Amino acid sequence: MKRELVVVAAATTAAATVAGVAFLVRQWRRQSNQQLSAQRILREFARWCATPTSKLWQVANEMASDMEAELTPPGDRGGNLGVPVSYLAGLPTGEEKGTFYGINLRGTNFMIVRGKLEGRNEALSDMSRQEIEIPLHILSSDDSTKELCDLMAVEVAKFVGLHVESDGKVGERERILGFTVSLPVDDLLPSSALHSKWRRLSFNDAVGGELAQEMNQALKKHGIEMRVYAVVSSLLVLQGRYYNKESVAAVSLGMGTDVAYIESLPQQIVKESSSEAAETAINMQWGNFFSSHLPLTEYDASLDAESADPGCRIFEKLISGMYLGEIVRRVLLRMAEESALFGDVVPPKLTISYSLRSPDMAAMHQDTSQDYEIVQAKLKEIFDIESSTTLVREMVTEICDVVAERGARLVGAGIVGIVKKMGRLANRKSVITIEGGLYEHYRIYRNYLHSTVWEMLGTDLCDNVIINHSHGGSGAASIFLAASQTDH
Ligand code: ADP
Ligand code: MG
Repeated sequence: MKRELVVVAAATTAAATVAGVAFLVRQWRRQSNQQLSAQRILREFARWCATPTSKLWQVANEMASDMEAELTPPGDRGGNLGVPVSYLAGLPTGEEKGTFYGINLRGTNFMIVRGKLEGRNEALSDMSRQEIEIPLHILSSDDSTKELCDLMAVEVAKFVGLHVESDGKVGERERILGFTVSLPVDDLLPSSALHSKWRRLSFNDAVGGELAQEMNQALKKHGIEMRVYAVVSSLLVLQGRYYNKESVAAVSLGMGTDVAYIESLPQQIVKESSSEAAETAINMQWGNFFSSHLPLTEYDASLDAESADPGCRIFEKLISGMYLGEIVRRVLLRMAEESALFGDVVPPKLTISYSLRSPDMAAMHQDTSQDYEIVQAKLKEIFDIESSTTLVREMVTEICDVVAERGARLVGAGIVGIVKKMGRLANRKSVITIEGGLYEHYRIYRNYLHSTVWEMLGTDLCDNVIINHSHGGSGAASIFLAASQTDH
């Protein structure tokens, strides 16, 4: 009796073991099929995103020819950059000295800045800045330019008042107030009439002219002896030029991206008012660049189609901080849906657009811990994914790598294209200033960018292109704008 029981028990255990093993085998097969399918998706994506040197040169050449096309007189234009023509009367020489004021209009606030320049060998000093939120009723109103300028003038008056002791009175001679606009590219920002107007500023000189006129009226009304000469998109390149004569372009790589470069003016488009200027800074709107050579994938196409401005700013959507994480999320979602990468149920949060931001993407990408612990922590934090295998985590970092590498290499190609357009590749040094959170904080992205420029130019030429990091931002560009527009 006892023995029988034991035999039955043993038989049951054996059967259970067999069933268990069979289950495990099935599960393992299923998992490895899923992994194979996910790997297929990843490989296909990586293939689409590939940027061999030959492709990068095609992109660079097209960037150069588009820049050239933009400079032909309106009417015969061939390029698609949509270069706004905010000609300035001149560039800083590096000799400007004195205290200068500027104002930088941003998404939901503006910043008033003041700083002292003492020639190119001295750094900008005595900086003071004040950030002021724009009240909601102004932001959301249909036509509040006047009200906004009034508010800015009042705040400028207060700010100047604070510094009157150290700077002396503004009064003896009218001063230039450098006025720059840097509108963050953030689809999540509430869209208001004012914002869409600012957005047009970068494409349309008239909008800048109107803003300058309103601002000058407001300054006059409040008895401030200052004048706005021009409203331009933030031009970091002016700052670069102040310190270095070989500084020819400035790239900003943050949420959005843009480039300003120094152009020698062809005679036919020099405005009468600024005819003495042989060179000017042009904000080239390179986010709008498009070329059939760009390695676009179906994920980029759907991101673009669902964006606020389909068909526009295609280059920006490949390279800038706003979009990198979103591209990664779209690939992950496809893997979750088609290969059950994160189990049988697609994690609901993975379906939320723009939930993966580039700092989190960078943290996962740069995770060097043995089991990708940061990747797992981010997956949990952002998508509520409780657990994942090491293999899955590794795949996540590979997707990040493909997206970051493609973006950074295209930026490198764009920079080479700009220097080529200036005819400076072979025979002169060119300094390119780069600023922005993406470049500053995403180490692997930055490294890809640098190595691409070396790769494209080879050891003979790569020393001619010098990339400088600038902390730029913070409204400092408007001080250099004021300095360059002031007669000395
Ligand atoms: P903006 O374009 O608004 O001026 P910033 O120059 O301040 O932006 O840069 C902020 C952007 O930089 C963020 O939106 C993000 O895309 C990117 N960024 C910031 N920190 C990191 C990081 N650690 N890793 C990757 N990207 C980052
Ligand atoms: Mg910035």
